[in-house]
Amino acid sequence: MIDLHSHSNRSDGALSPSALVQRAAARGVRALALTDHDTLDGLAEASTVARQHSLVLVAGVEVSVTWSGRTLHVIGLDIDPEAPVLRAGLSAVRSGRVARAQAIGARLERLGIPGAFDGAITLATNRDMVGRAHFARHMVAAGVVKDMGSAFRRYLGEGKSAFVRHTWAELQQAVDWIRAAGGVAVLAHPGRYGLRAARLRALMTEFRTLGGVAVEVLCASHGPDQVQLISQLANECGLFASAGSDFHCPDESWLDVGQLAHLPACCEPVWRHPNLRALAALQ
Ligand code: AMP
Ligand code: MN
Ligand code: MN
Ligand code: MN
Repeated sequence: MIDLHSHSNRSDGALSPSALVQRAAARGVRALALTDHDTLDGLAEASTVARQHSLVLVAGVEVSVTWSGRTLHVIGLDIDPEAPVLRAGLSAVRSGRVARAQAIGARLERLGIPGAFDGAITLATNRDMVGRAHFARHMVAAGVVKDMGSAFRRYLGEGKSAFVRHTWAELQQAVDWIRAAGGVAVLAHPGRYGLRAARLRALMTEFRTLGGVAVEVLCASHGPDQVQLISQLANECGLFASAGSDFHCPDESWLDVGQLAHLPACCEPVWRHPNLRALAALQ
């Protein structure tokens, strides 16, 4: 059981790093990557607790990227949390989050939903990691919408009434920071970007050229057709395949931590990559 994508409350997950690792261990996960958005804050706590449970904790991060005018996520696996280049890069990515959240709050206010910025920031354990998931949770708790999905469909999703465009890191920067920290760069949930096969192939080819190593084939947002397409494209582009639940919260997430199928037989699993050999023994 290997799960290479998960979140704690150091970004927009609901559980502390300790509670996340305990949940993973209880569910039989043997290797877990903690991949919080744009922060490495939870890794020290997670690795301490992982040792107590004989679980392999892969130090990870999920970097927010702007590519061709859209937001992509790039995961770094097995990074050195002390690497200065990565730390500085992530700090720069985080720096715009509070102002963006204020702008989202102002839009919601104009739409007749007051107090959303205060509500969201109260839910963010790390103030500078406030994000749309915190807004969505606040709006559910305040009775503005019935669930997280509605909050994104009506207000927070790309192009919706309270959406605020934001420029994150460049794709090349994210890959470079991850490589500078000794990690492996993985393109997260490629099926979620609304790209047709030809554009997806172009993105994956570019990602590989820039130094990317793998794509997520298995994740919460990929149906069987996407799993097949993305594993085929991965092979064409020379990319390894990764698998992660993207677990955020027991009541919200589509997949629980470790709730993953097997990778298709045609895939080259990312845990066979030379830089992730520590995981190879688990398979
Ligand atoms: P941000 O980084 O602030 O733009 O927030 C992005 C996060 O919002 C993602 O990492 C997810 O956790 C969450 N998210 C995005 N779309 C949805 C959705 N439709 N339903 C629930 N959560 C979502
Ligand atoms: Mn998230
Ligand atoms: Mn993501
Ligand atoms: Mn994620």
